[in-house]
Parts: sequence; structure tokens; C-alpha cells
Amino acid sequence: MSVTKRTSKNVLLDTALKNFYGAAEEMGLEDGLVEILSRPERAISVSLPVAMDDGSIRVFEGYRVQHSTALGPAKGGFRYHPDVDLEECEALGSLMTWKCSLAGIPYGGGKGGVSCDPLELSTSERERLTRTFAARIAPIVGEWTDIPAPDVNTGAAEMIWFMDTISKMHGKLEPGIVTGKPISIWGSKGRTAATGVGVATCIKELLETEKADVKGARLIIQGFGNVGTYAAKTMDEFGAKIVGISDVTGGYYAPDGIDVKKAFDHVTNHPKKMLEGYSQPGMTKVSGEEILLVDADVLAPCALEGAVNAKNAGSIKARYIVEGANGPVTPEADAILEPKGVIVVPDFLANSGGVIGSYFEWVQNLNGYFWTEEEYNNRLIPIMTDNFYRVWNYSKEHDVKMRRAAFLVAIKRVADAVKMRGTFL
Ligand code: NAD
Repeated sequence: MSVTKRTSKNVLLDTALKNFYGAAEEMGLEDGLVEILSRPERAISVSLPVAMDDGSIRVFEGYRVQHSTALGPAKGGFRYHPDVDLEECEALGSLMTWKCSLAGIPYGGGKGGVSCDPLELSTSERERLTRTFAARIAPIVGEWTDIPAPDVNTGAAEMIWFMDTISKMHGKLEPGIVTGKPISIWGSKGRTAATGVGVATCIKELLETEKADVKGARLIIQGFGNVGTYAAKTMDEFGAKIVGISDVTGGYYAPDGIDVKKAFDHVTNHPKKMLEGYSQPGMTKVSGEEILLVDADVLAPCALEGAVNAKNAGSIKARYIVEGANGPVTPEADAILEPKGVIVVPDFLANSGGVIGSYFEWVQNLNGYFWTEEEYNNRLIPIMTDNFYRVWNYSKEHDVKMRRAAFLVAIKRVADAVKMRGTFL
């Protein structure tokens, strides 16, 4: 490869670029395509004046990056966080390109956000901020150009404000402009559980292909929020034994199996949606770190990035790790786990149920016709299963780890689309 490789002081972007260049080199991607795919197609910064409740005006910085639209409209959330900047959006946007490509859905990748502390904003200030952000990026978003979604600190409320602003600007309803809307207003049944159901599908297929029994398989699920709870519920339905769960309040260890329904009800009824105070016969309270190290077949980290790292990777007993969260296993941990024979199912395969679910919401919006939850899951599970085996088989045939296999499969589909469409624009 004779291209000048881009680097960045932003760790997330630097890692994304390194992963891309490494895979591109391994697959012998031609230089022109490496140049194209190592840069975003479009990256914009917008200033967002907001009238605050006290009568003052504050100007926030917002961003939207479209990394690639070779396969379809850019798809990716927008987040509200003090650390948001253009480089972070570029890194996350490129990961969305690879995730959508691997998922086999007709989307490219994008990401956006506003640098702000949402805890300092009232609901009406958040609404004005969201509507101003929507108006400022309106020229580049659209049902067939760029479709945002919720991300860190944004949810159904922000999506509805976003949809309403664009619809009013265009003088017609455009429900497909964002996904992650409430079920009552053009959202989709099944979307809430989709990421966790997808994680569980990967765990089940992995165990089956390894000739291990799903029934009675011992699991640890770190993080008991959206992804973790639905992964736990689905694995419980498959007959697996969830021996450990955790959240910010610590670890909950039950060698004979957590009562998942009881734990789910506890979290649902807890004012802060936490496991705090949860107990059942035969359960021991341990620390959040200790739960990762208990004896189990599968560890599914479904909380935050960096959970499995250089410090604890050597002590992990699970033979399989399925990444429900984004980036929970660090590159240093990967290097420790590989010689131990631990198989890691990478995040942008394991948690792609979320974006596949967003695609289903968009399809329903474009058709003005809603599916039942059963129809939704009947479509989601076969796609997740196919995608799992596409990566699994590639990894076996080419003797590479699943993470590298996932990158190679994803990059090839985008590169082929760029080649077929040509380099105009
Ligand atoms: P969430 O906020 O609903 O839940 C996060 C959970 O992690 C909470 O239970 C929290 O208490 C717990 N947690 C936080 N720090 C922890 C720690 N140190 N130890 C143990 N538990 C801890 O978030 P979510 O939507 O479930 O997302 C979880 C991860 O999955 C994130 O990395 C997110 O980017 C990724 N993800 C989510 C979706 C989705 O559809 N929700 C899709 C793709 C990827």
C-alpha cells in the first residue's frame, strides 16, 4: 500500500483508521479505494443558538458526518455529550458504514452530535436545541440521504422533535427521516428488544456451531440496561443459565441461575432502572469487576467500552465473549485472549440487531404499514443468523479472528459498491 496513512490525536478515530488500514492491507484493497474509504464523504459543523429559560442565549457546536453513502443513505445516531467533536463523529460514522455493510442492509454510515451537557438543560431547552440542530443540518438529511437515530443521551423525544421540525420545514410528514421513534408515533414494535435479541442469536449460533449445549450454558451478562436485559431474557427463554449479571451498582452472582424475570421486573420498577437491592435465594453480591471473572461459558459485556482490558483479560474464565456493547474488549485484551483460545464475536456483528431494527422501522415508515412484533422478529433473527455464519465461515476459511473477518467482509461490500458506482462525486 503506497497511500499516506492518516492518523489522529483522537484515540477513537486513530483506532478506527488503524483497523481500516490493517484490514485494507490484508485484503489488498487498491490505493484509490483506500484513499476514498479512509475519509468521510461529508463532515459539517454547525453553530446552534439556543434561547435559554433564563432569557440568555447560548451557542452550542453541532456536527454531522456522512462517512459513506455508497450502499445507501447514511445511517447513524446523534448524541448529546460534552466530548462530542468532529473527529469522534467521523470515527463513529465510519464504524456505522462497516456495521450496516456487514448487516447487509441498504445503508451507508454517519454520525452526529452536539457538544453539551444534557443534564444542565431543561426539557424545553433540549427541545429548542434539537429543533435548531435539525434545522441547521436539514440540507443534508433526508429519508433517502441521511437518517439519524438515538445515541448517547438522546432518545424517542429528540427523534420526534427532529422529525416534526423537518416535516414542518418541508410542509409534509417525513416519518422516515429518523428512527427510534415511540411506537405510538411511527415507531416500530420489536425495536426495543432488537439489539439484545440479536446478541442472544449470536450467542446461540456460536454455541451450536461449537457443538456446545445452549440449554444449561452458563452466561455472565455485564450491564443490565436495554441490551443486557433483552439478551438475558432471550437466552433465558433458550434455556441457558444466566449465572451473573451486573450494572453500575455491582455484580449479582447466582451459580444456580439468576431469576431473569424477577431481575427484569426489579429493574423496571426501580426509580433509576437499577439492580440495586435485588436479591434471590442462593445469590451473592459481588463487585462489578469480580462478576466478569466467575466461571462461565459465555461472557456478554453489554455496558460500556473497555470492560475487558489488559488488567483483567488474563483472569477471564469464559471461553466465548460476545460483545453486546460497542468496544468492550480493548485491542490489548484481544491480544491476551487470542492465545488462550477465547473466541470473541465483535461488536459490529453482535449488536447489529439495533440498526437492522432501525432499517425495519424505516421500511414500515416508507410503506405506511406497521408489522406485528412477531413479523419483526421473524425477519430479524434469520438476518442475524446469516450474518453470524458469513463472518464465522470467513474466519474459518481465511484463518483470521472474527473481528478481522467482520472488517474484511464489511469493507469488501462497500468497496465493491464504490467500484460499481464509480468515483463521480
Ligand atoms: P443502557 O444505558 O440502557 O444500559 C447500560 C447498562 O450498563 C446499565 O445497566 C448500566 O448500569 C450498566 N453499566 C454502566 N457501567 C457499568 C459498569 N462499569 N459495570 C457494569 N455495568 C455498567 O445502554 P444500552 O442501550 O443497553 O447500551 C449498552 C451498550 O450497547 C453501549 O455500548 C451501546 O453503545 C451499545 N449498543 C446499544 C444499542 C441499542 O440499541 N441500545 C445498539 C448497539 C450498541
